[in-house]
Amino acid sequence: MKKQNPREVALQQFNRAAEIMELEPWIRNVLSYPERVVKVHVPVKMDSGEVRVFEGYRCQYNSALGPYKGGIRYSPDVDEDEVVALAQWMTFKCALVDVPFGGAKGGVKVDPRKLSKGELERLTRRYTYEIVPVIGPSIDIPAPDVYTNDEIMSWIMDTYSIFKGYNEPAIVTGKPIYIGGSKGRKEATGRGVAISTREVLKLYGEDIKGKTIAIQGFGNVGSHAALILHEMGARIVAVSDVEGGIYNPDGLDIPALMEYVYGDSPTPRRSVKGFKRARSITNEELLLLNVDVLIPAAIENQITEENADKIRARYIVEGANGPTTFEADEILFKRGIVVVPDILANSGGVIVSYLEWVQDRMGYYWEEEEVNEKLEKKLVKVIQEVFDTIRKYREKGKEIDWRTAAYILSIERIAKVYRKRGLFP
Ligand code: NAD
Repeated sequence: MKKQNPREVALQQFNRAAEIMELEPWIRNVLSYPERVVKVHVPVKMDSGEVRVFEGYRCQYNSALGPYKGGIRYSPDVDEDEVVALAQWMTFKCALVDVPFGGAKGGVKVDPRKLSKGELERLTRRYTYEIVPVIGPSIDIPAPDVYTNDEIMSWIMDTYSIFKGYNEPAIVTGKPIYIGGSKGRKEATGRGVAISTREVLKLYGEDIKGKTIAIQGFGNVGSHAALILHEMGARIVAVSDVEGGIYNPDGLDIPALMEYVYGDSPTPRRSVKGFKRARSITNEELLLLNVDVLIPAAIENQITEENADKIRARYIVEGANGPTTFEADEILFKRGIVVVPDILANSGGVIVSYLEWVQDRMGYYWEEEEVNEKLEKKLVKVIQEVFDTIRKYREKGKEIDWRTAAYILSIERIAKVYRKRGLFP
């Protein structure tokens, strides 16, 4: 499959919205570039005694609304363009859901599945050390992303705290609850994806109950989205991971699948492949299934100009960041398929990360119900605002998709701040 540069995709999306909303050229220019990209080299002593050096990044895209915020990804595909694109999406996501954060993203070019636990910990601690000068609870707050989890967040928090000489839980979000994490954070992104699916369907007069859903990726986002949608009464007929997928048109037993893949472990113990009462399918086949809703929740560049005209789902809800290319978006829009964009659909994670950061700074922690309520209230409000933006533009004679509407709303929030704060010096 042809891989489009994610930075190019992110910029095309931004430019389309900037054009339609007639954004002032100076703000458009400022928002087209990251404020800072830090590249580090991370030496790690491997179990064999050999020292290997890994490439790492932290991109701080924009800080007009507050401290930079964004996850850290461990993957062999990490490079500067990917990190910059992801940091740009974080910028617009935080602004869209109205949390006082700018956007950032970090990553290390490594396949963490090939490292021992000790190697993973040494890599994380050394990477943290390399970025200590540019992060901080009022500067830049990392979080988990692909192949990073709450244990890795604990090592980041511990390393940073040792350097500062005091405990600083607010340096990172997505931590275990007993070291300052928020109840509900682990499930938050998946919960947000499920709420977005239910609410968008509702806006089109449809009920989530009985709807058929296929989910690509059964990691943090995909698995929790599957479970919560299953609890809402939807029928999850297919899921996949990097090794392939499974399909049962009558619906998969999601609680049993969670147990099969995870048990008590925070990371998958095995692939979804081999799960009972389901047949094997490939990731590509999953994307083309005849379902009501398709949820890409793995990586970028999955729905492209090569397969967009073969997609049969009526709704695509982006759990992953950047799963749909710019060209694919145009094809889907012409075909009347509703694409709920990443910056909206997967924003549950950053909303609860914000709540975690607030709790850490107060030193006072909420019950899960309170966290979930705050998440739901914020998300439902933003979904309505995006829908209203589509209608507002329609009245002006301009048909726009959900992504463009979400960008317009988000860019306007940042632009408003630039207009008032001005530009230094
Ligand atoms: P994860 O590491 O927990 O899970 C990733 C899943 O994708 C796994 O099931 C993995 O096997 C699968 N996968 C990886 N490469 C694949 C490939 N080439 N083809 C098919 N499947 C593949 O990661 P996650 O945290 O669930 O993140 C998934 C997506 O959601 C990413 O795009 C991430 O940026 C985005 N996201 C995550 C969060 C969060 O809070 N974790 C928040 C917002 C957005």
